[in-house]
Amino acid sequence: MKLRTETVKLILHHPFETAHGGRSSSVSIVYAFLEHEGLTGIGEGSSCGYLGQNAPGTLEAITKMADLLPSDPFQIEDTMRLLEERFPDNQSARCAIDIALHDLVGKTLEIPLYRYFGLGAGEAKRTSFTIGIDTVEKVAEKVEEAKGFSILKIKLGSPHDREIMKAVRKLTDATIRVDANAGWTYEEAVKMMKFLAGVGVEFVEQPLRREDLAGHAKLKKRGILPIYLDESIQTSKDIPSAAAACDGVNIKLTKSGGLREAYRMIATARACGLKTMLGCMVASSVKITASAHLSPLVDHLDLDGNLLVSNDPYRGVISAFGEMLLPDRPGLGLADAYDTDWHD
Ligand code: MG
Repeated sequence: MKLRTETVKLILHHPFETAHGGRSSSVSIVYAFLEHEGLTGIGEGSSCGYLGQNAPGTLEAITKMADLLPSDPFQIEDTMRLLEERFPDNQSARCAIDIALHDLVGKTLEIPLYRYFGLGAGEAKRTSFTIGIDTVEKVAEKVEEAKGFSILKIKLGSPHDREIMKAVRKLTDATIRVDANAGWTYEEAVKMMKFLAGVGVEFVEQPLRREDLAGHAKLKKRGILPIYLDESIQTSKDIPSAAAACDGVNIKLTKSGGLREAYRMIATARACGLKTMLGCMVASSVKITASAHLSPLVDHLDLDGNLLVSNDPYRGVISAFGEMLLPDRPGLGLADAYDTDWHD
């Protein structure tokens, strides 16, 4: 099996800012291409600041993984277990390899990945569209641009949170979810969640620090709004002990290290009586489409990372105002962004 890599700078429509304090107008990602018996599988590793993953580190780790790749792409379980042992802190790099192996397997079997996972494309699920932290005026502009999406996710964590939410509510009757990105104290969370319940928010993501499971459990008991944990939960191992602290889990390939572990996270969350959401960071269609192939399994989707990008090199899952249509082609089912014969 031959490995190739490529680093790509994704340009954002709007500079992105979160409660973690970052702001940037581009994000670098790394593609891993695995060539095997005339077929090529592609995978994507992206950055995640709070997990210490960046593009140069991801590229370096993927390159080192070349010697550990299987001669048979169907050996995904063993390969991923070995890579986790050797590269425990490189989820992003492992994710790229995991997606590429799955793409190869789907192409070898000539079936789309959702079928490989035993799923039907069924009725398309809807993804939320994320509105990043900004001034009240800018947020209003972005909500206007997102007209047509029936679910919005609003990032909070600025001193103007209440004003922002009032302005958003005035502009739209879309379903609204809020992501605090671990930005509140317990007291702030209680006050904000009461306010958010009053303006009809559906649920709140990660109100408190990622380590503070006890605080989240206390908040859950108050029953003001459902709580979904994101930063607190990386892999399936984190879920059972967090079950009392949340109502649902945000599962991302960047955290899990790929589709294999994301599938296990969905099963574990369900077994613990929790709801499931597939989320993402800024990403190209490679990673978003990979996640989307698991979408028939989960309750909610927040897979808009590719919609925030103006130079996505690939096309895969189609998001028509949030309605996710899975590609029917083998593997991930991707096409080059400039391939005009795509709709065959
Ligand atoms: Mg989040």
